[in-house]
This record gives sequence, C-alpha cells and structure tokens, in this order.
Amino acid sequence: MATKLSRRTVLGTAGALAGSTALGLTTASGEGEAPRIELRLLETSDLHMFVLDWDYYHAKLDPTVGFSNVATLIRKARSEAANTLLFDNGDFLQGNPLADYVAHQPAPSAANIHPIIALMTDLGYDAIGLGNHEFNYGLEFLENTLAGAPFPVVCANVARAGGAPFLPPHAILTRTLKDTAGSEQQLRIGVIGFVPPQIMMWDKARLDGKLETSDIVLAAKKLVPELRAKCDVLVALCHAGINADPWVEGMENAALHLAAVPGFDLILTGHSHRVFPGPKYAGREGVDAVAGRLNGVPAIMPGFWGSHLGLADLTLKRDGDRWSVEKASVETRPIYKRDQGKVEPLAARDAAVAARIMSAHDATVAWVEEPVGSTDGPLHSYFCWAGFDPPTALVNAAQTWYARPLLAGTPFAGLPLLSSSSLFRAGYTPDSFIDIAPGKTSLRQVADLYIYSSNAVTALKVTGAQIHEWLEYSARAFNTIDPAQTAPQALVDKRIPSYNFDIISGLEYRIDVTRPARYDGKGQLSAQNRRILDLRFEGAPIDPAREFVVVTNNHRADSRGSIAALAACPIVLRAPDTNQDAVVRYFKSQPTVAAQHAFPWSFAQTGRPATVYFDSGMAAPDHIAGRPGLALLGPGEPGYTRIGLTLA
Ligand code: MN
Ligand code: MG
Repeated sequence: MATKLSRRTVLGTAGALAGSTALGLTTASGEGEAPRIELRLLETSDLHMFVLDWDYYHAKLDPTVGFSNVATLIRKARSEAANTLLFDNGDFLQGNPLADYVAHQPAPSAANIHPIIALMTDLGYDAIGLGNHEFNYGLEFLENTLAGAPFPVVCANVARAGGAPFLPPHAILTRTLKDTAGSEQQLRIGVIGFVPPQIMMWDKARLDGKLETSDIVLAAKKLVPELRAKCDVLVALCHAGINADPWVEGMENAALHLAAVPGFDLILTGHSHRVFPGPKYAGREGVDAVAGRLNGVPAIMPGFWGSHLGLADLTLKRDGDRWSVEKASVETRPIYKRDQGKVEPLAARDAAVAARIMSAHDATVAWVEEPVGSTDGPLHSYFCWAGFDPPTALVNAAQTWYARPLLAGTPFAGLPLLSSSSLFRAGYTPDSFIDIAPGKTSLRQVADLYIYSSNAVTALKVTGAQIHEWLEYSARAFNTIDPAQTAPQALVDKRIPSYNFDIISGLEYRIDVTRPARYDGKGQLSAQNRRILDLRFEGAPIDPAREFVVVTNNHRADSRGSIAALAACPIVLRAPDTNQDAVVRYFKSQPTVAAQHAFPWSFAQTGRPATVYFDSGMAAPDHIAGRPGLALLGPGEPGYTRIGLTLA
C-alpha cells in the first residue's frame, strides 16, 4: 500500500514542480485586448454508486439518478468549452445495492479496478476528493479502491494515527490550455480536499486507531497560503455543506467558513445532497444563493446520486507572472425535470458508461431478487409520520431478536432490551417510500427496509431518564402545531433529516406536537417543557433511574454525544453484523415474518381537533382505506400526495 500512496504523492509533487516554472511567455500589450483563458470546471458529488438511472429497491428505471446520465451532460459541457477539468467531490463508493454487490466481490486492486474508479478514468476525471461514505467498507477496501486511480485523490484533513500522511492533501494540475487568441498557455490548477472530521465518530469501529482527522477550516489555514502561491487557480474539493452558524472547531458543514479562508477561486461543496446555487440557501448570511457565492467565492453543490452536474465558468486574465480569475459564473444542470409530478428525463444514458457497468449491474439485479423469506402483510411507510409504521417496528423487532443472544452471558443480559430505529424511507425523494407486498420477500425488499447497508448493530446502556431525553431530541422532527388554527398545518420539520427521528420499541409514549420541541434544530435544549408524554415500560411509567439496553446502529451510538444526555452512556455491544444483515437473518430465521408489531408511539390528545398534513408517495391513496384519522388532501410538493391527519 505504501508504494501506491507514494506514487500519488509523487504525481502531486511533480505537478507542483512543473507548474512553478511553466508559465507562458506571452506578454499582453494592453489589459483590454490581452488574451484571456476561458476555463470550465465541472463537478459531480455524492454519486453513491448510482451509476445507471436505476432504482434497485423498486427494480425500475429512475430518471432522477445516474452517473450514466450525468456523463451525457459532462460530454455536452465539454463540447461547449475550450478548456475543461472534471472533479468528483466524494461519496462515490457506497450507498446502494450495486455498491454492496461490488464490495462483496474480491477486493479491488490496481489490476482489478473498482468500477466507479474505472468509470472516472474513462471519463477523464482530473482529480477527486473523498466523502465520509468512502470509509464505510473499511480502510483497506478504500485503499485498494484508490490504488486503481490514475488521477490525484486529495484529502487535507485526514492523517494516519500518529500524523503520517494518509493521502496527499492537495495536488497541482498543470494543464496546457488554449487562450482566447488561440495560443497555448500553461495553467496551474491547485486542488485541495476536505472531508467532515465526523468520520471518526461515524465509522469509529472501522477507523479507530488507524486514522485521525482535523478541522476543515484549520487545515485550510495551515496549507492554503503555500499552495496558493504555487498555482493560478485554487479549487476546494469540500465534501461538506453550507452552514451559516458561527464556526466551531470540528464543524461538519464548513464550506461557508472554508470560503472565508483567503485564496480560493472555487469551492466545490456536497454532502448535504442539495443544489447550490439554489433557493434552499437563500437568506443566509454570507451566502448569495442566486449568483452562487460563499463569502464572495464562487461555489457549487450538484445534488446527489447523479441528479446534477455542477459547472463553473472562469475567465482568467494575465496578472503579472500568473493568471488570475477576472470573472466567474456557476450553475448546475439537472438530468431531469419534474412537471406536475411527472418526471421528464433531460439526459440520456451515456452508452459507454452503461456498457462498462452492465455486467455488475445485471449481477446486482439478480442478486437482490433472491428470496430471503416472506411476510404475512403489507409493509409500507406511506403513513409513518402518522405513527402507522410497520417497517420501523419490524426493524426494531429484528434488532432485538438479533442482539438478545449476543448479550446473553454478559453483565447486561438481565436488563430490559429495547430497540431503536428511525425513518429511513419517509419521502426523502418522491420514490423514497417502502412498499412491500405480502408473500415472498426478496433481498431487494429487505434492503429497502434498512437502506443504510454499512450500519452495524450496536447497543447502549441508558437510564429511563436518558431515554426520555433521547425521545425528546427525536421529537424535534415535528413542527409546533397550533390547535386553535383551522387551516391544515405542516406536521414535519423538513430541516431535520428523517433518519434523526428515532423510534424506540419496547416502550409506549405519546408525542405532544402542540408544545414546542424541547431541543431545537441544532440539538440544543431550547424549551423546558416536554413533548414526550405518558412514557411507559410494561404498562407502568418509566423509572428514570432504571437501566435499559437499547439496540441501535454504530452511527447513532458513536455520535450519541449529539444528544447531550447520552454523551456518557456506555456502549455495551458492538456486533459483527450490519443492521441490514440482522433484518435479513430475521427473515431467514422463520417461515413467515409478522408484518404487524406494536407501534410504540402515537400523538397526544390535542383537546380540540387540528388538521396536520405530510407529503407521502403517489401510491399512498391505495393504502389509506380504514386508517383512522387519515384523509387524502390532494397533490403535495411535486411528485408527492398530501395526506391529512386529524389530531384531537
Ligand atoms: Mn452523500
Ligand atoms: Mg457525505
């Protein structure tokens, strides 16, 4: 491995040396008539192995995703411009059944190249950065994967434990480009990569003792001045989103604060799976959501799963002995548009990309159709926001079933065993709902029940009082509802990802959404009242001092400190298997899995009737009959059906 890494380090260094003496000799007679360099920089990010426009969970075409489709936009964007470079900003390796299928095959190597690296090579990527999900299959898998990359892979804020370099922090790409007069010019493009330092928490079991991380902004302050001096254009490959809160060391979505470090010409962002420039970021201090500027620096975020291509068009002028950016514009181009709920593709599959992935794709499609068991009723998530949620209850049952024998014989075997899972497919996109018919169940359907395939079963020891705070934190998922208002009110606070709405089975509790959330959007204690009422265990009010074991996943367990009350809870189990595996085994362990398990929570009484609504899938109306309190309100956001729920 060491030789492979040093090869990349040498590439980066060679670029830097060549670049330092490589400026063209053209001298401009006057500022106005001097030739310029028009440079187009392209970004993909958060591809998550969505290579084809295919939905592996529903086994159908999905024109809203696909590297094969964004590749068509890449080729078009190149055809329009004299000079282009192409970058990926991370989270390319993990995230769907194709990724898992490849990860189950013999390890990738320089001779057996991971298909995503092969595709990036085919497409002529100039450099890439890492995302947090690159670490999900472990360090060895990642290093074997990167060994096949002929382009620089940069990461400035991750080192090996003890401080030795992990990857080159940055690279300088020396490119011979055509200026506007048709002459060749050499340009030095610096790229520096950043990943959320939270990888040490999110993949603790895989990375502990192997890597260490540092803050994104601090790493940039240390490295950028020297790097900047050696290049004409400096680009950040920042796998982080845009958070306008004051900077704190270790901040996850640090792209805005990174932009304030002097020296950047372009910030490529990602991780938040959003689009920038775009209206979602309007009104934040330091952010120009129309022109696409972060603290004045051009910036892009190109969606997720191949939904968009990011473009930055820079005009460079000669500035003494170097080139500098005179003007810049940024945009994103989508691979589809949604017209009154109907998806219209805007970019066809690139035939070469499709051909390259087809054997792995076909093998994945066959693999996920293998039956693993059966269920005796429908499992869908269309009304999960109303507390009718068979999938999460089933996942919790499977986690309990899986963990109980592993805890037997430990000091924790005598404690009551609870299980926590959250809403994973609750409408993140219009297709992101679980809908599994009764009867035979395939691996594909079980994977749909638990999509975060790298999560590993992990258990915490907590007290009744800590559980109460945990559930209060989860209940931030809902807006505060005014029971005096007659117009329907939006139930769900979309700023809180649904995977942060934890549901703990083995208990009973009610959520009072007419009271403000005890914890705010940032997870800080913000109200003295409680939303979680009637919290009971075995029919009696929970004893705040009583100890419980709660089965969850490594992600929640290792970032439990986000919920202040849990910060000191001991981890009592780190299982060798993933949560998805636990669910698969639960199906395999019995002829038929019960689709109905007890739902732990419901809404508290509001005193007077109030109608709330949430957006569900287009097939939700097929399942609404006989569901008390639910009504069809009509279309919701594009692609969704709006469901009303009467609280009383
Ligand atoms: Mn991502
Ligand atoms: Mg990410």
